[in-house]
This record gives sequence, structure tokens and C-alpha cells, in this order.
Amino acid sequence: MRPLADGTIPPEGSAYWVALTQFETAARVLNLDEGMADYLRHPKRELTVNFPVTMDDGPLRMFTGYRVHHNTVRGPTKGGIRYHPNVDLNEVRALAMWMTWKCAVVNIPYGGAKGGVIVDPNLLSQSEVRRLTRRFATEISIIMSPEGDIPAPDVNTNAQTMAWIMDTYSMHKGYSVPAVVTGKPVQIGGSLGRVDATGRGVMVTTREALKLRGKSYRDVTVAVQGFGNVGSFAASLMAAEGAKVVAVSDASGGIANSKGLDLKALKEHVARNKIVKGFPEADEITNQELLTYKCDVLAPCALENQLTGQNADQVKAWIVAEGANGPTMPEADRILEDKGVMLIPDILCNAGGVTASYFEWVQDLQSFFWTEAEINARLERIMAEAFHAVMAEAEKRKVGRRVAAQVLAIGRVAEAATLRGIYP
Ligand code: NAD
Repeated sequence: MRPLADGTIPPEGSAYWVALTQFETAARVLNLDEGMADYLRHPKRELTVNFPVTMDDGPLRMFTGYRVHHNTVRGPTKGGIRYHPNVDLNEVRALAMWMTWKCAVVNIPYGGAKGGVIVDPNLLSQSEVRRLTRRFATEISIIMSPEGDIPAPDVNTNAQTMAWIMDTYSMHKGYSVPAVVTGKPVQIGGSLGRVDATGRGVMVTTREALKLRGKSYRDVTVAVQGFGNVGSFAASLMAAEGAKVVAVSDASGGIANSKGLDLKALKEHVARNKIVKGFPEADEITNQELLTYKCDVLAPCALENQLTGQNADQVKAWIVAEGANGPTMPEADRILEDKGVMLIPDILCNAGGVTASYFEWVQDLQSFFWTEAEINARLERIMAEAFHAVMAEAEKRKVGRRVAAQVLAIGRVAEAATLRGIYP
């Protein structure tokens, strides 16, 4: 891999290395001009912030957070904020780059961004998380705005986190600015249909993939890794369409029942116990076992780098629907492709979230709100159209679906950059 402008190469196997490796493949297929390719593989700007938070029992504790804008040629930047102990700048750069491609693949007028704080919020009290969020929001407010960069929830952040960010930004302005974040509670300018939109997009794209093989949800079994926002809604929406969800997992481990899990009861169990483990009428399995569990559809909806050169050949599913960002390593991509697995790549599969976020932002800017039925119908149309556009690109160029999605997206961004011209 060629070094970046600062002379560094991201560590092999890191999310940023994976994102750049995928980018290089797509740029070659596109025959992208070398200068343009070099431009598009660099983030536009990166902010690192170190900030204090007062802990409940008195002392200050320092935290580090990041906000990265990858590219702005198609519009303001959009991307989630993650709270996780393993957050690092390279991960945030990768996630920001994937957001640029994701927005382009579903053709919404945004560039990509991502943010994160190195923290395990489960080890903090609610008021500590609130103070951390308000301080982080203030620190990144120099590059965050409804016109410039609009955050959203990601791993370990949610509607409440977005409410605090929106309120913090609004306090500094002196008036309410709901359009500065998406994924807010509906009561303060959030959108109906946003909370389950990413899972709905996973459900819609998988349904279109099944149709290509003459199947419907009634014919298939599903395993889902990660039972948070994306995984839990993907699982229940697929089950509502008739699929048998046979295994799910979270950070604590997994559970399986080849006869199918009762998703409603499972959600109640998780609401009570926080984890899927201990759910009655299911066997305990590990996350590794979940990935290779006997099923038709495997939906990794947790974190990066789950399907690797070591486990990809044991995957039994014939559809892999990437609800998570970057769950598959490049080596695993090759193995899955050789096995004939139908991959629905992350930038397509999980784009329902950012699409509904786009709807939320448009509604906030206009102070005019749509019905849930309107939102779901628009979301379904955009996701299905993007799915078939990616399939057509794969067919036309005789490439795998990940490459096809990236080629479609990167081509759109490169075209916008060319039309705007390189400043000055
Ligand atoms: P979340 O915090 O709501 O849920 C994450 C889930 O993954 C939890 O159940 C957690 O226990 C589980 N998990 C964590 N580590 C795990 C491990 N090692 N093995 C198995 N499970 C593990 O987060 P989310 O918002 O659902 O995000 C999940 C993925 O989807 C991330 O890759 C995120 O970037 C991506 N994504 C999220 C959205 C969104 O709208 N929330 C949109 C697009 C993509």
C-alpha cells in the first residue's frame, strides 16, 4: 500500500487498512485518475480533542475523542458517534470514508464523517455519560453544524445521546437547532421510522437478494451477530416477514435454537437483563460459533473484522448481509466470493440508517414532518433501487458486489469532485 500524505501506512488488518485496500481495488476497476484516487483516499480534516469530565464522586477524568470529515464534495458530512474503549483515529478515519461511499451509493447529498470517544459508557453513570457527551459536543462544535457536519448514533450511543448533543449545541446558539444531529427522540425533532431504519434497510436489501434466487423470508433461517440497534431490529423485521431467526449474539455471547427464537420474548429478556445470554429455550453458543452457525442468512451487526481468513471458509450461510460497518476482512471477502456466497456489502446493506437520517434532517430544516408510512415507503424505494443499481454494476463490470458498490459510490464522488474542480 502506498503511504498517505503524512508518510504513514495504517497497520495491516486495521479498519483503515481494510477501507484503503477496498478503495484501491475499486479505484483500479474505475480506472480512476491517480491524483483523484490519492485525493479521495485521504480524510479532509481530523479533530482530536482531550477533555475533562467531572466524575460523580468529585475527581476529574480526561477523555480523548475524535471527529473526522472524510469528504464534502457531495454535501455536508454525516456520520455517527461511537463510544467504545477500542476507538482510535484509524478506526474513525475508516468509518468516515465508508460513510462517504455509503451516502453516495444511496445517492443522498452528503459526504462522510465519523466520531468517537475512547470510553466504555457501561462503566459510567448516566450523569457522567451526560457530562461527557455535552463536553465532547462542545469540543467538536467548531466543526459541527446543520450545514456542515451532522452526527448520529453509532455503537453505544442512542437517541438520548443525540438529545444531549442537540441541546448543548442549541444552548450555545441561543435557540433550538434540531437539524444539527439525527437519530434524536421524535418529541424534539426526531423522525418517525429512524430508530429501526438501519435494521429495515438490512431487511429490505436481504429480501431483494432472496428474490434473485426465487426465495422469500418464509424459506430461510437467519443468524444475527450483535443485538443492539441494528441487529435487534434487523432480526425482528426479518422475523415479521416470516424468516426463522435461529441464532443471535451480543458482546456477552450467543444463543441458538434451530427451531427459531421468539424475538418478542427475547427483546423483553434483553430489556430486563441487558444481554441475550440466559434466554430460556435456547442453547448458549460463542460469537465464533454464531458466525458459522447453520443458516441461510448471516447478518453481522456488531463490529469490524468479524469474518476473517480463519473463519470465512466455515460460514454456512449463502447470504451475508453486512448490517455492521466493515465486518469482513479482505481475505474473507475472497473466500466468501469463491464459495459463491451472495454478499450484501455494508455501504449498501446498512445505508437505511443514514437514509432515514437524511429524511430527519430535511424535516428539521423545513419544520414539516412526515408520517411513518411515508418514511418507510421512501426508505424501501431508495434501498431497493440502490440494491439493484449495485447488482447491475456488478453484472456490467463482472466484479463482486463489494467492489461494485464501491465503484458506483466512488464514481459518483469522483464525478462531483471533477465537476466542482479542485480549489483554487
Ligand atoms: P449498538 O451499540 O446498538 O449494538 C452493538 C451490539 O453489538 C450490541 O448488542 C453489543 O453487545 C454487540 N457486540 C459488541 N461487541 C461484540 C462482539 N465482539 N461480538 C458480538 N457482538 C458484539 O450499535 P449499533 O448501532 O447496532 O451498531 C452496530 C454496527 O452497525 C456498527 O458496526 C455500526 O457502525 C453499524 N451501523 C449502525 C447504524 C445505526 O443506525 N445505529 C447505521 C449503520 C451502521
